[in-house]
Formats: sequence, structure tokens, C-alpha cells
Amino acid sequence: MLIEDEGIVLRQWPLGEAGAIFSVLTRNHGKARLVSNSIKKNKSMRSSLAPFMRDSFVYWKGKSELSRLSQSSLLSPFGLYLSSDYDSYLAACLMAEITEKLFEPSQGEEGDYLLLWGALSALSKKKREAWKILLSYELRIVANAGWKPEILACAECGREGDFLSFSMQKGGWVCQKCASADAIRFSKPQKELFCALLLGEWEKCREPDGKVEKLIKDWVNYYLDRKLNSLKVIREKI
Ligand SMILES: [Zn+2]
Repeated sequence: MLIEDEGIVLRQWPLGEAGAIFSVLTRNHGKARLVSNSIKKNKSMRSSLAPFMRDSFVYWKGKSELSRLSQSSLLSPFGLYLSSDYDSYLAACLMAEITEKLFEPSQGEEGDYLLLWGALSALSKKKREAWKILLSYELRIVANAGWKPEILACAECGREGDFLSFSMQKGGWVCQKCASADAIRFSKPQKELFCALLLGEWEKCREPDGKVEKLIKDWVNYYLDRKLNSLKVIREKI
């Protein structure tokens, strides 16, 4: 099947002497693995397929996970803009890494693509600090995947309230009664920062906070571990 779509390059692996495999989050066909056998001979194609570039693609999709790249043309050279700023580049690397891990081939919705596009665009235009864009992206991309932390009510009993303990196992902020041994206590400004990052309320995100940053990393990793484990179980059953 011949597919025409746009996408953002997440990763690239060399293949033989002159080829490469690209992991791309496409707009309408989820994550794709595209193969080209002659990329090293084509300089303009090679630079337009570097990580974080947004391109239009034409590729042949068969039964295997790998699709043969036929044509590509550059739409937004985010990779070029980002390479001049270390913080933005590092944030983009981490965003691409999480996105690559989060989706299986063909998985990923248009909303995920638009979220990544928006985050890379904001990073490359330096619309706001890199830490805000990265942490907000991490929370929102896993929320899109169905792993959204409860913020307005207790994640366990459902009682409404502005609770300040967070339990990874219970799936969000929990009341005192439901706070299990794993629950961590936060200050009110720390909870507000977490909620503002999740909701993209930038004016409320003032200072970075190491404890909130660690919570978001742990939250994303907890989800990725659960996902990898459930995939392992599914594969063992097949
Ligand atoms: Zn509760």
C-alpha cells in the first residue's frame, strides 16, 4: 500500500553501507519505521531526515514493520533550529525518546502528532523555557495514552479536594485516608506547578522545582514500565 503522510523523525539507525532506518511519528498512520537503502548518497535527503525534522513522506507499507521510503521533502527544519541551543536540543532528545518508547508501530493518534509538533515548534522558537515544554509534553503525551493523573479529586475514593499527597500506585493525588505507603507529600505551590504543566497554563509555571521534576519523570517511567510488562505478558501468551 502506498502511503502519503507527514511526520516527525524521532530516531535514525544506520543500515549497511549507505542505508538507514528511521522511526517517524506520522500524522495519520501512527509510528512508522521507514527504510532507505541509499540515504548516504543523497545529501539533501539525509539532512532533511535528521531527528526532529518534520517532513512529508511517500512510502510503501507491506506486511512487515518496516516500510520502504520512496520520497520525502522537508516541511519544518526543527532539528536545525534546535541544534544551536543545548537545553532545547536535550529536551527534544528526551521527548523523541519517550515518544519512540510509548508507541508500537502503527500506534499514535493525530493528537499525539500535534502535541509533538507544537512542543518542537515552541522549543525551536524559544517561546518558553525548555524545562516547561519538556515536562508538560511528558505529562500530556502519557495522558493522551490513557495515563492521566487525577488532580481534582482523590484518585482512590473519588472525593473532591485539593489533596497534596501523590501516589504512583493509586494513579494521582490522594486524600489523607487513601494515602498508601508509597505516597509522597508535596507543598501547595508544587502541586500547582504540576497541574499547570499538565494543563499547559504557562503563566502559572514560574520556577523549576526538582521534586516536581522527579515526580513527573517517575510517573512517565512507571507508566512505560507497566506498558512494557503488559506487552511482555501479551507476547508470552501468543
Ligand atoms: Zn481518598
